[in-house]
Amino acid sequence: MPFDSGLGLGEALASYASRPEHSRGRFHRQDAAPTRNDFQRDRDRVIHATAFRRLVYKTQVFLNHEGDLFRTRLTHSLEVAQLGRSLARSLGLHEDLVEAIALAHDLGHTPFGHAGQDALNEVMRQFSDDHSDPEAAGFEHNLQSLRVVDTLERCYPDFDGLNLTFETREGVLKHCSLRNAQRLEMVRPNDVGARFINKTAPSLEAQLCNLADEIAYNAHDVDDGVRSGLIDFEQLQVVPLIAAHARAACVAHPALRGRRLLAETIRRMLTAQVYDVMDHTRAQLAAAGVQTADEVRAYGRDLVGFSPAMRAASTTLKQFLFANLYRHPQVSEKSALARQVVMELFTAYRGAPHEMATSAPPTSSLNRAIADYIAGMTDRFAIKEHARLTGMRLFATDDL
Ligand code: MG
Repeated sequence: MPFDSGLGLGEALASYASRPEHSRGRFHRQDAAPTRNDFQRDRDRVIHATAFRRLVYKTQVFLNHEGDLFRTRLTHSLEVAQLGRSLARSLGLHEDLVEAIALAHDLGHTPFGHAGQDALNEVMRQFSDDHSDPEAAGFEHNLQSLRVVDTLERCYPDFDGLNLTFETREGVLKHCSLRNAQRLEMVRPNDVGARFINKTAPSLEAQLCNLADEIAYNAHDVDDGVRSGLIDFEQLQVVPLIAAHARAACVAHPALRGRRLLAETIRRMLTAQVYDVMDHTRAQLAAAGVQTADEVRAYGRDLVGFSPAMRAASTTLKQFLFANLYRHPQVSEKSALARQVVMELFTAYRGAPHEMATSAPPTSSLNRAIADYIAGMTDRFAIKEHARLTGMRLFATDDL
């Protein structure tokens, strides 16, 4: 039975959308599923992956054990998928591919958010000339997400990884250093690393997920930041994007205060950003004259994007969050502890590899196997392992 493209009734795929029937396929050949298109199948594989379940206990900004209401990597990924699907449907792009990429995009994140990844990168960069490690230099979380779906998930009888389509893997590898792209190309020529060397663009679905990621985290970090008490709503009024939507919310609902005012402000901001992306992207696609997904790639520059005015407004918001939330003394204090946990775990496993409850894959160096092991940890497992191996309890956690 031929499968359809996975669209709902009445929806049409644009000519420049990715199509499962035109997929560049999977690394290991598999017959088509009888009732699901290949992008749906990718999405389903991601949801059933071990790394996906771990996202629920991984930090987005606030450490996982600090509160039940903050976003985790899992709820962040679901919000990216929601925004991505909405945008995809209105632009005639493939929703299933967007969802697969969105749900997989953060699978390679370490415990403790960016503090964990920076620490792991720093420690792995010492071994950049380790030629027994063909995989990469340093540690990049996007590359690690690809590594999770290509290699580290081990649940199929005949291959490592999830054996996803090229298009989903292309979206998962949203950034890659030139050096690591060259290494990827040596292992698998003309694969997802090639575009970072050739300066071609990814599919529109991949571009869309990138932007949906940014829209999602800017909005939810405002929400979580205020909820945490580290920033307040008054302070946010210096950000024009927030101030404009807060004013509009107050005009429409003069009695609105507190959390409801914050929620209404964020909702209006999200809506404005989504419409801005739709309008600007349609205009860019028309101006570029691209007709197919391959023409999108060859075009070489992103076509999905904010208008210049919304880009500037979003950048201002991001700068505010950097200065006032991500570098808030309380966040920095936790980041320093997280960094210590990651560094000391690495040292402990270097000295005693048998302490890792895993067998290193045969292609990996010991350093890479340790990085994979630490990157796969949830926040609470990393804290427990660190306490077990060093005898120190760095985080005051009641009930991990
Ligand atoms: Mg993300």
